[in-house]
Formats: sequence, structure tokens, C-alpha cells
Amino acid sequence: MEILNKRKINEQTNRLRQKTFPFRLRQSLMVALSSSLVAFGIGCADSGGGDWASGIPDSLSQEEDSTMSPENPNAAPVIPGFNFSFNPGTKDLAYGPGVTWNGCDPNAMVTGGYDSDTKCGNGTVYPGYAEHLDKNFFRCVEVASADANYRQPERVFIRHWGTYVNRNARNSSSLSMHAYARAIDIVKFILYDRTGGTTQVSTHVRDFAGSTAKFYNSFRQCWKDTLPSSCKPGQREYLGSIGIPGSALGGNSLHDDHIHLSYPLCAG
Ligand SMILES: [Zn+2]
Repeated sequence: MEILNKRKINEQTNRLRQKTFPFRLRQSLMVALSSSLVAFGIGCADSGGGDWASGIPDSLSQEEDSTMSPENPNAAPVIPGFNFSFNPGTKDLAYGPGVTWNGCDPNAMVTGGYDSDTKCGNGTVYPGYAEHLDKNFFRCVEVASADANYRQPERVFIRHWGTYVNRNARNSSSLSMHAYARAIDIVKFILYDRTGGTTQVSTHVRDFAGSTAKFYNSFRQCWKDTLPSSCKPGQREYLGSIGIPGSALGGNSLHDDHIHLSYPLCAG
């Protein structure tokens, strides 16, 4: 597919890398600023019946950054990446480590915000999920955009309903993937192309038609294909990992207004 012209993408990446130097310094500044940013998290059930949250402040995410500093000798090295921006260091979450996704970095190709098309914010994700997102997310957006005949996106803003929140899946004794910081609830993709145009892609089932449906199916299939063979279809967490009701790719009514994009435990 022409839209996946690797050379173009590499040129674009190099150009942006040059433009964003010194990236580390910028990240350091963002750490200082991020303590004033408020991150919220809610979680949907990974699968099964019941309701999902209407909004629970992710208090851990709000506190986390004040204890992290690039000057901290114990801080973990920065996760390499450019599509997403992650702050240096890790923090202890309820069931393992987490890193802060800086959804506001203007130099990242992927930014995002809680329940907003324009207001950015931070999120918290498991380090392995962070790497997986950085490696695969934007590529899947490009693949899906090509299949939907959208202009090639240069950046994407994720309107979401939360990342890390420590709780069970709804009406379940099992932990949600959100408790492991392995899920993002995507409400909308806002694609920015190089002409300055934007395309908004809803993930609500009522909008599941035409090019939106093509994007939706293509993106989900692409993400599914990124997961290792250790994640076999039929696993509960796997079916809930991308979520969509009434589709060949699995899902349920809990995910009829967002994509529960996860990095399930089977992925390592
Ligand atoms: Zn979810």
C-alpha cells in the first residue's frame, strides 16, 4: 500500500526527530510540569456482563509524577520511542510497574486526552504495553486509514476514557486489564493529515458504517495481529482486548461505545 511507504515514514520520523532535539530535555521539562496535570482513569470490563464505570479519578496517576525526576539516580531509563511520549522512570502500581504516557507532548505523533477532543493529559501504562503501543499503534492507524481511504495521517489524538485504574472487571471477580495498566479505552481517533485536515473516527457502534467501519475493522485486525501467538482467540482477556459487539472479531455490549485496547497478560 502506498500509504505505508516506508521511506516516507522514515523521512518523516527523521525530520521530526531533528525537529524535536533535544527530546530528552523536553521530556525533563514535561516531568516537572506533569505534576500539575490531572489524569483520570476509568475502566470498562474486559468481558462479561455488567456495567462499566462512569468515571473514577485515577488518584495514583495524579500523584505519581511528583516523586519522579530525571535526576533521580534510581529512575529507570527512558523507554525508547517517538510515536508516543513516555516520561522517564517507572512507578509502582498495584500489580506491577507503570510509566507515564505524556499525552501532551507536541512532538509526539500520538497524543491524547481524557474524554476530550482537544484537552490533552497523561495516562499510565505497563512498560511492556508502552513499548507495544509505541511500536504498533501508529502503524495500525496508518493501515486502517489506508483501508478507509482517509488521507495518510501525520499525527493522531486519542480521545479516551482512561488507562490505569485498580479495579475488577465489572460484575466479575477478575481484575480488569486496567488494573494492570494494560488497557486504554479509546472513544475516538482524531487523525491529522499533512494538509492540515482532520478526520474524526468514532468507535461507537451506532457509527459503525462506511469508511468508519472499514477503519474500525482494519485497526482492530491490525492490533489483533500484533499480539503474540501465546494469545489464542477464545481467551477471555483476548476477546475483551479489542472489543466490539456483533463483529467477527469478538467483543460484547460493554464495548459498544469504545475500543478497549489492551495488552493482555498472555502477551507477556
Ligand atoms: Zn477498558
